Amino acid sequence: MSTILYDNVSVSYGTNEKTALKNFNLQINSGEIISFIGSSGCGKSTALNVAAGLLTPTNGELVVDDLITRSPGIDRGVVFQNYSLFPWMSNLDNVLFALRQRYDLPNKTLQAKAADLLDRVGISGNFQKVYPSKISGGMQQRVAIARMFALDSPIFLMDEPFAAVDEITRKHLQSLLLDLWEKEENRKTIVMVTHNIEEAIYLSDRVVVLHEGEINSVVAIPFERHRNRREIENKSEYLMIKNHLLQAIEEKIVGGER
Ligand code: ADP
Ligand code: MG
Repeated sequence: MSTILYDNVSVSYGTNEKTALKNFNLQINSGEIISFIGSSGCGKSTALNVAAGLLTPTNGELVVDDLITRSPGIDRGVVFQNYSLFPWMSNLDNVLFALRQRYDLPNKTLQAKAADLLDRVGISGNFQKVYPSKISGGMQQRVAIARMFALDSPIFLMDEPFAAVDEITRKHLQSLLLDLWEKEENRKTIVMVTHNIEEAIYLSDRVVVLHEGEINSVVAIPFERHRNRREIENKSEYLMIKNHLLQAIEEKIVGGER
């Protein structure tokens, strides 16, 4: 089980009188993929950082698996938009570092495991041995995904993980993430931030739209898994959902649950 509950969470930053997050209430179920979406500055990263335990609510509580939580933990792996990897470690060592936090096994065993994880995200051979700066942004994000799976936390938190890569790479990485997630026996609970509507719909069970620090709308995505991108984009419901999300991003909806 790996649930997250935002229990009436509000966050204010220092003397900044604007409240970044206001009375945020959300129950996230085990094995769910949730996206936070909304325009820049609406509080997406703040909400994610509360879940990560990197920010403590000014009011309200974050509850992980029925426990009030106010600090980071190995139960929650985090991927940020940039600077996710340690630049002073090779790609293999980045993954190895995560494995060492999780397993007390001989180095050789963990090395093989790290190499296997990197192979699975398409980083092979020499690419494993070089520093992250020697490979493209898209490949670095693959390594970051491998490292997240290496840490094997029941909860994955990702802040705009695919924002820095081109459109085609972005789609590859989305499918890669879903493939790995679907193969897991105990599926991870994933919370991710994006400002890309298509990405949110394709990946998520529910999309949470934030507007000026408040939840404006929560939209359940009805498409069955395993999802085929083309297929769902051709459904009439897809356009309805997309339009609703667009509207919810732009303006405050009154009574916006659907
Ligand atoms: P998003 O990720 O949706 O772009 P953020 O959660 O980063 O939004 O920010 C929400 C609001 O909080 C914004 O108004 C932003 O300016 C403010 N904010 C974010 N981080 C800080 C900080 N460290 N100090 C002061 N204000 C902040
Ligand atoms: Mg942000």
